Amino acid sequence: MTTTTDLVSYEDALASYDPVMGLEVHVELGTKTKMFCGCSTELGAEPNSQTCPVCLGMPGALPVVNATGVESAVRIGLALNCSIAEWCRFARKNYFYPDMPKNFQTSQYDEPIAFDGYLDVQLEDGETFRVEIERAHMEEDTGKSTHVGGATGRIHGASHSLLDYNRAGIPLIEIVTKPIVGAGERAPEVAKAYVRELREVIRALGVSEARMEMGQMRCDVNLSLMPKGAEKFGTRSETKNVNSLRSVERAARFEIMRHAAVLSSGGTIVQETRHFHEDTGSTTSGRVKEEAEDYRYFPEPDLVPVAPSREWVEEIRAALPELPLVRRTRLLAEWGISATEMQAILNAGALDPIVATIEAGADAASARKWWMGELARSANESGTSLDGLAITSQQVARVTELVAKGDLNDKLARQVIEGVLAGEGTPDEVVDKRGLKVVSDDSALGTAVDEAIAGNPGIADKIRGGKVAAAGALVGAVMKATRGQADAARVKELILERLGVGEG
Ligand code: ADP
Ligand code: MG
Ligand code: ZN
Repeated sequence: MTTTTDLVSYEDALASYDPVMGLEVHVELGTKTKMFCGCSTELGAEPNSQTCPVCLGMPGALPVVNATGVESAVRIGLALNCSIAEWCRFARKNYFYPDMPKNFQTSQYDEPIAFDGYLDVQLEDGETFRVEIERAHMEEDTGKSTHVGGATGRIHGASHSLLDYNRAGIPLIEIVTKPIVGAGERAPEVAKAYVRELREVIRALGVSEARMEMGQMRCDVNLSLMPKGAEKFGTRSETKNVNSLRSVERAARFEIMRHAAVLSSGGTIVQETRHFHEDTGSTTSGRVKEEAEDYRYFPEPDLVPVAPSREWVEEIRAALPELPLVRRTRLLAEWGISATEMQAILNAGALDPIVATIEAGADAASARKWWMGELARSANESGTSLDGLAITSQQVARVTELVAKGDLNDKLARQVIEGVLAGEGTPDEVVDKRGLKVVSDDSALGTAVDEAIAGNPGIADKIRGGKVAAAGALVGAVMKATRGQADAARVKELILERLGVGEG
């Protein structure tokens, strides 16, 4: 893009205006089959190999609702503290696009399955912000177009387009917030925290992996400004398909600065969709927004209404897992850590590995120490995430066990982890192969201790004279001589024994 956009600094924008946000999140459900037909949803298949007359929109084909899709929608609705409709219908959202062969998307309009809820989200400093949910409704994904021949991969300049309908009909849940007001300068942070919390909820429910980088979860960021203290909302822009947490925050921030520039120079904001660009962190104009009526929504006549019985809804509610915020609050108290430490654990994606390591027998402090220390560093160095490392929580637990038993010290444990990550085998195998064992038997240590004393007569004298603290230097010498394998506590005892000093 060559056009530059006038911006007002973030601080100046917030000094004059209050931001209002609305977040629309699409989540692809992890059901085995599509929402209205039996086609597989497996990713990576040959284009158009997972299609049938229903998802290709052939005349006369009859859709059938996927029961698991409905159940997932109810689970999401309940986890978001929503009311669940006693009776609701699907609706046709009519528009033309080549990736949508029916010429309408089966969605829900004025009768969403879930409505009027909220999600409490946690900001970086541990403070909680309540985001009100307007609705969560069921719909289907479209196919995928690939524009070929142009420089940008966009339709402009392309010579032709390829269409893959494998994605057409995959179940989606769209979750729409009520206007988020009162976040002030923290609006972009709230947006990010909301999408993250929602992702955690979705994962905890097991209804989707919600991997944003794979398009399984994407967010439209609606934003408007109103003069500080005003009550009437301004005109919004809608930045579409933002696909990372960081981008959600940046898009909101950019739009605040852009809106402020337009408004403070006397201009008006047009209601339009916009695209976010990762490289520049800016947005550019998409299309001027149609009114909702343009879609000529009407109830879908080929599908029966969905009427979840109250008994079923209560069964689902009773079977909900512990939700992420509740779980985090519990773990924070159990572990006795601060909100900032918990935030660091979350940012590192270390919470689940730590919990799994504790479940495999490690104590909480050691589990946290290894995942947030050595393992986080390794992941960082190799440019992967913690769950991409070639070590299991059981293996990390085994390392902490060997340390607790005194078979390994931290230095050796790091080498064991390094070996496991390098594919040398299990922790025990690495210990054997590399010969990594704390040496604590006195005969093996004795010579090294004697040598250390002989090599540092000055220090030895100090210790004899009562300066027990000076023993550290001799312990260090022994550790060096044994390449870190000595049991440091036993070494210190031996040194003091040899020099005829008691501890303390
Ligand atoms: P559409 O489908 O046209 O995008 P929706 O009602 O589905 O409309 O979603 C609009 C989103 O924007 C909702 O989250 C809503 O709360 C929010 N919103 C509505 N008005 C404004 C506004 N003036 N400024 C910011 N957000 C808004
Ligand atoms: Mg929208
Ligand atoms: Zn199909």
